[in-house]
Amino acid sequence: DGELRAEMVDGLAKKHFPMCMRNLHESLMRDHHLKHFGRLQYGLFLKVLGLSIEEAVAFWRKSFSSITDDKFNKEYKYNIRHSYGLEGKRANYPAKSCQQILLSDQPGPSDCHGCPYRHFAPDNLQTSLLTYYSNQGLTSSNLPEIMKTVKEGHYHVACTRVFEITHTSKGVEKGQGIGSGESVTHPNQYAARSRELEK
Ligand code: SF4
Repeated sequence: DGELRAEMVDGLAKKHFPMCMRNLHESLMRDHHLKHFGRLQYGLFLKVLGLSIEEAVAFWRKSFSSITDDKFNKEYKYNIRHSYGLEGKRANYPAKSCQQILLSDQPGPSDCHGCPYRHFAPDNLQTSLLTYYSNQGLTSSNLPEIMKTVKEGHYHVACTRVFEITHTSKGVEKGQGIGSGESVTHPNQYAARSRELEK
């Protein structure tokens, strides 16, 4: 019925997520855990992507595979429900925009949230770009251009260029951005546009 289910997230992450969310996803799969700000950034993104509260609880429960049900229910379930406006003051929290991700809650060395274009060291950024996106056509010959933009502090421009490169096979050309020359301003806009191009 087109509903986004917990077990579909991994496939979507590998095809359609911008680097910030791809990195959170891979870190979660590797560590079976994410710290608070990472859970917040990724959880709200998944909510806006279309994951229902039931599927979100299933997704996080399965991902946090090294803890007991009891610990999960006590320490994490409330916060997931809270981000869906089902607990506390029942606010409908929006997902964070690039601007918010770039400027608020700066990640420390052991954190996985934030914007990799801004917050990763250059070597790690280049390695991660190749790890995450070479199956979508990004090669080491693309790195100098991306790194130049990063060095100038134009993180969303770098992210937009990666979108273009990884969607070349869908007919996206340099300068088109995520459509009509628009650049990336929100991780959900990146993912939504990428999914549209697949249709
Ligand atoms: Fe995520 Fe925005 Fe950074 Fe791209 S520019 S990685 S969408 S925060």
